[in-house]
Amino acid sequence: MMNSKPLLGCIADDFTGATDLANMLVRAGMRTIQTIGVPNADMFIDAEALVVALKSRTLPVQEAVDQSLAALAWLREQGCKQFFFKYCSTFDSTADGNIGPVTDALLDALGEELTIMCPAVPENGRTVYRGTLFVGDSLLNESGMEKHPLTPMKDANVLRLLEKQTDSTLGQIGYETVARGPTAVALAIAQLKSDGARMVVVDALEDAHLHAIGEACAHLKLVTGGSGIALGLPANFRRAGLLSSLKHTTHLPHHMGGSVVLAGSTSRATNGQVTLWRATRPSFRIDPLAVDRGEPVVEQAIEFFLAQTQPVLIYATSPPEEVDAVQRQLGTAKAGHLIEQTLASIARQLRMLGVNKFVVAGGETSGAVVQALEVKALRIGQQIAPGVPATQTVDGVPISLALKSGNFGRPDFFNEALRALNEGAPPASNAGDLIRSGPSKVTPT
Ligand code: ADP
Repeated sequence: MMNSKPLLGCIADDFTGATDLANMLVRAGMRTIQTIGVPNADMFIDAEALVVALKSRTLPVQEAVDQSLAALAWLREQGCKQFFFKYCSTFDSTADGNIGPVTDALLDALGEELTIMCPAVPENGRTVYRGTLFVGDSLLNESGMEKHPLTPMKDANVLRLLEKQTDSTLGQIGYETVARGPTAVALAIAQLKSDGARMVVVDALEDAHLHAIGEACAHLKLVTGGSGIALGLPANFRRAGLLSSLKHTTHLPHHMGGSVVLAGSTSRATNGQVTLWRATRPSFRIDPLAVDRGEPVVEQAIEFFLAQTQPVLIYATSPPEEVDAVQRQLGTAKAGHLIEQTLASIARQLRMLGVNKFVVAGGETSGAVVQALEVKALRIGQQIAPGVPATQTVDGVPISLALKSGNFGRPDFFNEALRALNEGAPPASNAGDLIRSGPSKVTPT
């Protein structure tokens, strides 16, 4: 290991966004740990990049600012040299908007005058041209994002969006400059700084642009953007001799124990994954109406699990018409909460039986499971699918998790994820082995 203190400290405004960023940093060769919220005690940190996952995107402005400042303070205590504020590649913000105020607060706390704003993630079709954000071929405000229930995006111009969120002077660097490379971008940043700009929106149409922007930002204390801009930052530390030129292997240690797949997402991709699994493998369906009637669904799921000799899928996933019917009967929020809490209780009980590998489908569902398992921090391992890495808890007895937001992954994702989490680990049957062995033991790698 080259460096005992982390180099890059990141603050992400939601959980799956944090994982996406952490995955990107691992791919670029940084050993990365993601924490769930701001750790309140001293945690043993052995990583080159830290990502604090907040849930601040839709909070009232002052709460988002306070949480982000608390995350920054913790990252500074850990010794990070550069800081990154990660928001969504579609610049998701409420009508009040947290991105501007949080960026202002972070700049003030760091005593910095300027940062860049670059939401582009070209590999996912998010590009910025003339300060305007595109999703594939569509303007952001014609991409479907204008109908988002929490953060409807009704304008595609990042500068106009920011104007509503901050009094800071804005600047812009167009793609012609970015295409000329890192020196041109660095000169443009210096010029804008002397003109008094504080937040500079930078165009990016392809990964080469992100690498150039990243290099030009080597000396900025604060960088902000989508996960894409993180592509170019690790190379700065490598050039400065602070990061090994060898990319670390990201294989996580193997450990014995049982596995389960929990699905609470109702998205199209998850429906496909559930259908494929059910064709050949054991599965248990959670009926939201049975949960509402107070039937012992958790106990039934555990019984089913113990009766099988291979990994089981426990799912609430249903096609849209069934979800609609349940939501009409129970109310959307109540139905969601009931199912999340049911899957969380199942996860907790399976953990007590010795299950230590969890594949979870659904963003909110993942949040509920991670909370139920009292996960505080995750080491990020190899990528299973774009945006979904294998992860393992950092403190205590290890738990391995693959947490995917609804629409990620190919039809066979559940098998792929189980394989990734179980690589090298001896097989365990659900009943005998687990109950006898209790919570998992670590095996040397
Ligand atoms: P995604 O990442 O696909 O959005 P989430 O887990 O974030 O998945 O959200 C899915 C929501 O739908 C959760 O609150 C979950 O509890 C709820 N849900 C899951 N299955 C059903 C169902 N059959 N009927 C109604 N709501 C459901």
